[in-house]
Amino acid sequence: MSSQPAPVIGIDLGTTFSVVASLERSGLPQTILNAEGDLSTPSAVYFEQDQVVVGKEALKAAVYEPESVLQHVKREMGKPFCDKPIRGTRLPPEVVQAAILRKLRQDAENRLGNVQDAVITVPAFFNEPRRKATMDAGRLAGLKVLDIINEPTAAAIAYGVQAGFVSASGEAKQAEKILAYDLGGGTFDVTLMLLEGCQYTAVATDGDVQLGGIDWDRRIVDFVAEHYLEQHGTDPRQDPVSFQMLLQEAEDAKRALSNRTSVTVRFAHQSKRVQVALTREEFEALTSDLLQRTMFTVERLLRTARLRFDDLTRLLLVGGSTRMPMVQQILEQASGKSVDRSLSPDEAVAHGAALYAGFLQRGSRAADRSLVVKNVNSHDLGVLGIEKATGMKRRRIMIPRNTKLPARSKSSFVTRRANQRSVAVHVVEGGDDSGKNATPIGKCLVSDLPAKLPAKTQVVV
Ligand code: ADP
Ligand code: MG
Repeated sequence: MSSQPAPVIGIDLGTTFSVVASLERSGLPQTILNAEGDLSTPSAVYFEQDQVVVGKEALKAAVYEPESVLQHVKREMGKPFCDKPIRGTRLPPEVVQAAILRKLRQDAENRLGNVQDAVITVPAFFNEPRRKATMDAGRLAGLKVLDIINEPTAAAIAYGVQAGFVSASGEAKQAEKILAYDLGGGTFDVTLMLLEGCQYTAVATDGDVQLGGIDWDRRIVDFVAEHYLEQHGTDPRQDPVSFQMLLQEAEDAKRALSNRTSVTVRFAHQSKRVQVALTREEFEALTSDLLQRTMFTVERLLRTARLRFDDLTRLLLVGGSTRMPMVQQILEQASGKSVDRSLSPDEAVAHGAALYAGFLQRGSRAADRSLVVKNVNSHDLGVLGIEKATGMKRRRIMIPRNTKLPARSKSSFVTRRANQRSVAVHVVEGGDDSGKNATPIGKCLVSDLPAKLPAKTQVVV
């Protein structure tokens, strides 16, 4: 007897927009429309007096009541509390993300019936605490999180299956070396992947958690605000309501410039108006350093992997901001290759997550051949110790970044005192050699050392 498998969903929990996809009967992914009838839901949360509102309405409320709306909380994942208080209380970021996930889940349930199993995606550059916070947000929203996968990995699966270089069961037809360039609303992510048969290996990842479409919007905000200041003597950026309205205008102008070569931005503040013409060329000049920053990251990644553009078989564009013509131009210019734009860049991640959720579900249900997704650690993993010569804190890297996971590593340390019975091992992620800026991710105590060992006994960790 076989019953219909429970619906699984893939969730692209974005910094600015979130997208949910499920699998059709045919096995192909499909974006689920939200209750408002849109393909994507703004990742904004409005705390009204007695209820929490997520999405488009929250984004509107941000204009008139910015103090009650949280946005871009994904950038704060892993911190204990969001910077911005809501009515005097600072909320944990995962609680805010859970509110978004709850809305996404409810909207999915409107179309699919009861939904529990989900795969949620995160930027490849997310460290362990941020991934864990994402898991927690899923659980708080009542989801069973089957797995968390990197957004570029999900995108590669979606492109692979839908563009036909991967079969419906997830098997690559020939070996591929793929670069996924993902420029979203608030984060930039670039990943190099190898596809061989059913094995997807992320070989190297890099990115910038503080760079995205919002930075392009702000350049237009500054451009218009400077004009306003010149004409009327006040700065609309000082007023939170005007700032939000201008930011909205700026985003609209930016989107329009992806299809047209010039726009007029109209904006009113304190009942005085400005009209500013902006051409695509001017916009590209205003933001060329931002675009350049993404290319530095791409080139650094290729250097790390000891590859050149010529070695790549495919370039995938992911994220809504890759709709800006400047992105495709610079990538094609630098690589001498054409980029793959066969999928809608802002749905690819959710589609890949849904496909992966389906593979996982089948893998756990039957001896079905399922997909193997291998990852690398995106930050150095090391332990903190005290350097003998200087008595200073030192970090020793045990698993360098971009090592294939799972990984093992051994390193020996020496005890400081005679008859030392235990050694505390502080495991950290990232940071520099003195341990500065490292994120503590765990601590363990080796506490069963035999008695009466002399000082400087070797302990292997
Ligand atoms: P995220 O996953 O980071 O939330 P998305 O991939 O959904 O982001 O991309 C959102 C970003 O894409 C926003 O900054 C939005 O302004 C931008 N964007 C969407 N469509 C366009 C377009 N046509 N032209 C330029 N930018 C766009
Ligand atoms: Mg995204």
